[in-house]
Amino acid sequence: MKFHVLTLFPEMIELGINTSITGRAIEKGLISLNAMNIRDFSQDKHKRVDDYPYGGGAGMVLQAEPVYKAYSYLVNKIKTSKANPDSFKKPRVIYVTPQGKVFNQSMAKELSSEEDLIFLCGHYEGIDERVIEMIVTDNISIGDYVLTGGELPAMVMIDAISRLIPGVLNNDVSSEFETFKDNLLEYPQYTRPEVFMGRKVPEVLLSGHHAKIDSYRREQSIMRTYERRPDLLENAVLTEKEREYLTGLIFQKNYDVYS
Ligand code: SAM
Repeated sequence: MKFHVLTLFPEMIELGINTSITGRAIEKGLISLNAMNIRDFSQDKHKRVDDYPYGGGAGMVLQAEPVYKAYSYLVNKIKTSKANPDSFKKPRVIYVTPQGKVFNQSMAKELSSEEDLIFLCGHYEGIDERVIEMIVTDNISIGDYVLTGGELPAMVMIDAISRLIPGVLNNDVSSEFETFKDNLLEYPQYTRPEVFMGRKVPEVLLSGHHAKIDSYRREQSIMRTYERRPDLLENAVLTEKEREYLTGLIFQKNYDVYS
């Protein structure tokens, strides 16, 4: 997977993504990062890329021209890097914006199968709408709050997508059985020592009985999801027995409330 980022702060992206697991994935050649500075495409002698909004209002707006020029340069560079440029299909362009669809694990999974992805990071009050209409294929938000720029959202998405690429995590199983698998939150985790400040690790986890451990963990997942994110349960993938367990939890809670 090749990640390309159009930004005013490439060093921020490089510093973040070249660290830890994603940094090692870059070293191993499993992913690559190309952060391009939109400012390098400004025609202005002071390298300005923003201007006042038409119609008035607070703040500045990132101009269409440098964004379009940076994008065109990048797409051409990607095209010429391909073994067969004639069958080249333009990569998806994700505008990270609080006005987009909220990012989730299934979107990360879907995006992880792309060969190239371009992230467009806004700043100031946003980007001139005309260039967004011209180049953007996906508008994606990382949550219902407003940040100062798109660099952190782009890094969040690159991180979440990267760890789904085979080989990026040391143990591929760890991305298979974790939060949001089957639309459930992950069960609680414990490591040594067996007793910490008087708190013991649940006995079943020390039993070595794998079927019992699996069933305990599924129940913990269902309970945790019910307590913390009941909205997920509507689309949770549960067996008949697990549905009965959930019904028992709901019944118990209603009983506790009314008794
Ligand atoms: N005026 C814009 C609005 O009300 O929608 C917000 C602009 S924000 C200050 C500047 C940039 O930060 C946006 O263009 C976007 O790229 C990024 N950004 C801010 N919050 C975000 C979020 N929740 N998800 C993704 N990107 C975000």
